[in-house]
Amino acid sequence: MILVFLRKFSDIEEESCLSRNQSVLYRKSSPHKPSSYLVSKLRSYEELHKRCGPRTNSYKRSLKQLKSGQIDHDSGDCKYVVWVADCGLGNRILSITSAFLYALLTDRVLLINQEKEMVDLFCEPFPTSSWILPEDFPFKNKMSGFYQKVGHSYGNLLKSNTINYSTPMLPSYLYLYLSHDCDHDDQLFFCDQDQALLSKVPWLIMRSNVNFLPSMFLMSSFDQELDKLFPDKETVFHHLGRYLFHPSDRVWGLITKYYQDYLAKAEKRIGIQIRIFSAKTSPFGSVMDQILGCIQKEKLLPEVDTEKSIASPSKNQTSKVILVTSLFRGYFEKLNKMYGEHPTKTGEVVAVYQPSNERKQQSWENSHNVQAWVEIYLLSLSDELVTSAWSTFGYVAQGLRGMRPLILYKIDRTIPDPPCGRGVSMEPCYHAPPIFDCKTKKTVDTTTFVPHVKHCEDIRWGIKLFNTST
Ligand code: GDP
Repeated sequence: MILVFLRKFSDIEEESCLSRNQSVLYRKSSPHKPSSYLVSKLRSYEELHKRCGPRTNSYKRSLKQLKSGQIDHDSGDCKYVVWVADCGLGNRILSITSAFLYALLTDRVLLINQEKEMVDLFCEPFPTSSWILPEDFPFKNKMSGFYQKVGHSYGNLLKSNTINYSTPMLPSYLYLYLSHDCDHDDQLFFCDQDQALLSKVPWLIMRSNVNFLPSMFLMSSFDQELDKLFPDKETVFHHLGRYLFHPSDRVWGLITKYYQDYLAKAEKRIGIQIRIFSAKTSPFGSVMDQILGCIQKEKLLPEVDTEKSIASPSKNQTSKVILVTSLFRGYFEKLNKMYGEHPTKTGEVVAVYQPSNERKQQSWENSHNVQAWVEIYLLSLSDELVTSAWSTFGYVAQGLRGMRPLILYKIDRTIPDPPCGRGVSMEPCYHAPPIFDCKTKKTVDTTTFVPHVKHCEDIRWGIKLFNTST
């Protein structure tokens, strides 16, 4: 079925996208099959995007309407959601995926406000028509500095009582602020009554840095359609992520070179993603002990015989390779020393590699994001995956891989016991979901609403999708 995802592109797309066809040579084909309904929905979406995408007559007509500020019911039937970036690459990939599912569910066209730091990371996902918001979009220069909720924000309109649910006076565009720190009014986006209003607005400009997929599964407006699209609720990001995010040729060249040089020959590849959010609460020694404790408990790698040392480099073929990704180099150095200086008790040879150690997050730098994307993708080619709690970087790798990872639980000065555990769903966590009931407006545990939305393994208050049949 994944081949069905691929078929359409190879004959239509002019722009080169080597990864789209070559990825099957590097990553195992997915054991999770998309529903035929999802495949046909994607084909219909591609048609819609072709009809309404940038430079089409429909797009030009819709732009006129946007500029006028008024809804013009005669100006065509194209509606849009424009995604605006916030935070690191993992967050961006997850929120774009959420925005895309929202577009699928509401018959909107998804356009990406691409800042310079995102240029040439991904191939165009849809055949013949770009998903990049054109440079001459009227609010282009406003959006890049758009941290604050500004006029025409949905939350603000509700606060100022300019929207009357019974006789709504709606503008032709609205800002939706759906990042981790959005407030109660912004979160009314997740209420069916508000969706009914929003469906009338042709342009929605959405700033988001979160995976809000799970909350859409709590809304009765989308319930039935989502059930048909995703009979298996644990593969939503897996399918949509693999459909949307293909590395550009530039990034693909780096991925394949690194893979061939360091990872290809091993019998088993183990990816270990180490994300440190605070050096204070996650001191180096404790994190290192946590990683070693996890490796030992889960029997991921052979133990070393510290009584013996390796006199000369082994001529044996490397049988296991550890791919460490981290902003810091210390973890790699420690593991490399351990396996480089002592033989393993099983006689296996373990090699350790780390593609980069960038030291600081610099999400506004294009080359930094290229490196991040290379490493997320390399992790997704692992046979076994160890990820850090709370990290969207790791969520994307596990989702693209299609695997429930071993999660290094959040450290708060002391090492958690157990140090890690197997995720019970490979879906990413929504870190900051609404926690109120739309009808009563009272605080509620939303995981009591449906069986396939539960709290995350790594964040108590977060929610994620689960497969209820396993
Ligand atoms: P999160 O903050 O862990 O949820 O992940 P994000 O991807 O949203 O933001 C973290 C950003 O920091 C990444 O996108 C990278 O820019 C950088 N970063 C964090 N960990 C790594 C790493 O292991 N390798 C590289 N190359 N960059 C990293």
